[in-house]
Amino acid sequence: MRELPTFVAATANRHKLAEMRAALAGVATLLPRPAEVGEVTEDGDTLEANARIKAGAVAAFCRAAALADDTGLEVDALGGAPGVRSARYAGEDADDRANVAKLLAALADVPPARRTARFRTVVLARWPAGQELLAQGTVEGAIAAAPRGGRGFGYDPIFVPAPGGITFAEMSLETKGAISHRGRALRAMALRLEERP
Ligand code: IMP
Repeated sequence: MRELPTFVAATANRHKLAEMRAALAGVATLLPRPAEVGEVTEDGDTLEANARIKAGAVAAFCRAAALADDTGLEVDALGGAPGVRSARYAGEDADDRANVAKLLAALADVPPARRTARFRTVVLARWPAGQELLAQGTVEGAIAAAPRGGRGFGYDPIFVPAPGGITFAEMSLETKGAISHRGRALRAMALRLEERP
């Protein structure tokens, strides 16, 4: 049996790390990001560029393979916003609550049928010598009228995956992971890692 590849996770978000570890169980070992890595400015124009910035910074600092993900929420009634700016939607230091409040306010007059949206995640594995593997995942859904549920993070309390029902924040980690953007991107990455010679 070959040894599992090991990556340093580029995320400092414990929810994301838990989702990533669950999706890559038996395929790769994920080490937590060392605090010494410091803040990395995510100023890329695309999810892929931001994932590359994060994975590159961690791989260079740790001199080890790194795994990063970057996610955007695309709301159709807002022309795809906040998209790559999802983390900073309500301002540079915005927290989840402020981002959710701003999005609900922007959609205040938008009826349920026009509140369609999707999460898109890019996962990027990068080795110190520069080799990369890339994978993507999306989930279609809609923005709820008000936050529901106490689990998860970010926009989870207002995202209802299609075909409708409960929000991501009302689901267990396993149920969310089975259908989520990140779960799908990580399963695609797992296949690529298993295909590597
Ligand atoms: P980033 O990928 O960490 O840059 O995340 C971008 C923004 O999307 C942040 O505001 C996150 O809180 C949010 N976000 C990322 N992944 C998820 C998710 O799985 N559910 C809800 N919000 C998310």
